[in-house]
Amino acid sequence: MPKDYQCPACRNPIDGDALVCSNSECRKELAYCSHCRDITTYSFLEAGAGRFSRDKFRCVRCERIGVKCLTWKAGGYCNGLARTGSRWDQPLCARCMHRVGEMGRSVLGWTLAGALGGLIKRRK
Ligand SMILES: [Zn+2]
Ligand SMILES: [Zn+2]
Ligand SMILES: [Zn+2]
Repeated sequence: MPKDYQCPACRNPIDGDALVCSNSECRKELAYCSHCRDITTYSFLEAGAGRFSRDKFRCVRCERIGVKCLTWKAGGYCNGLARTGSRWDQPLCARCMHRVGEMGRSVLGWTLAGALGGLIKRRK
């Protein structure tokens, strides 16, 4: 069921994958927040320290903190902010997790099984 998204700044209806609001007077940067599962604008919070940590952003809707989804970082078709705050930062946003969950169980599952199998063999 496709959801109708709105720009939180100008209430313009927007596409769920939009990176920037299509309203020429607004043009706010948009992202999909994994906390509130809505399209939001975000503010820069804190630069990531070191190679493996990502810059942190605050969602203007729920004010929780997210990092850019790895798919987004890699230039993929994604505008999601992944959740932070639990034991570790999630690599992917809720939508990519869902996508991976759907098709990944076979593909990713086998890749993981293969990698683990390799590790076990090497240890002998
Ligand atoms: Zn807007
Ligand atoms: Zn949010
Ligand atoms: Zn994503």
